[in-house]
Amino acid sequence: MAGQVLLVEDDHSLRQTLTKALELGGYRVVQTDSLAEGTRCFSEMINRSGVDRLDLMIVDLGLPDGDGATLIRWVRAQSSIPLIIISARYDDNSKVNLLDAGADDYLVKPFSFTEMMARIRVAMRHRNRDEDTAPRIYRSSGLEIDLQRHQVIKHGERVRLTPTEFKLLERLMLQPGQVVTHRQLLADVWGAEFVEHTHYLRLYMAQLRNKLEESPSQPKLLITEPGIGYRLSDAESS
Ligand code: CA
Repeated sequence: MAGQVLLVEDDHSLRQTLTKALELGGYRVVQTDSLAEGTRCFSEMINRSGVDRLDLMIVDLGLPDGDGATLIRWVRAQSSIPLIIISARYDDNSKVNLLDAGADDYLVKPFSFTEMMARIRVAMRHRNRDEDTAPRIYRSSGLEIDLQRHQVIKHGERVRLTPTEFKLLERLMLQPGQVVTHRQLLADVWGAEFVEHTHYLRLYMAQLRNKLEESPSQPKLLITEPGIGYRLSDAESS
């Protein structure tokens, strides 16, 4: 078994389809359809035999008895399990706040199962690993980023980065494949007093893309999540 998932989604047919897809992926699924049930199940699973009983939570934001955000904040206050938000709403503010509050990633309906399984794999990988064991080398289509040696190689050639460009890349590399919000990037690279300065990010991301992308206007490496943040594409699995 790949793990146990608590799924909180009130749309019956979507819940069934997601459950089937997760089960095919080797997960055992506990299904719930409301905020109250989700809260009850989470407490039960945690209290029974520790957090290990639960490996992942997937929570719909629009639930009949309240906002899934309440559940996400409550869970995150007591557990570090991987947490993925699903949402039908193009409510970027709420997603950003939840990502900043500790949700690992989000999916906007309709999404493909391939996309869902990829997000789950990435979220599980990150949560099962602490920062000390985060990857020190990232490889993707002709590019190699080596944090230890502090160097970036593109098609065998050394790329020169400014210290800030490198710091930004290093921060994204902590969570390859996962979205990092503007606020998280600004706070970690520039400092807490700069969290509103999103123009810094636009500027430095453009510079990084010019240096690293094959085609900077169609980035495949440094992905923009409009209104939310950026994602370093998942590294080649090898
Ligand atoms: Ca819903």
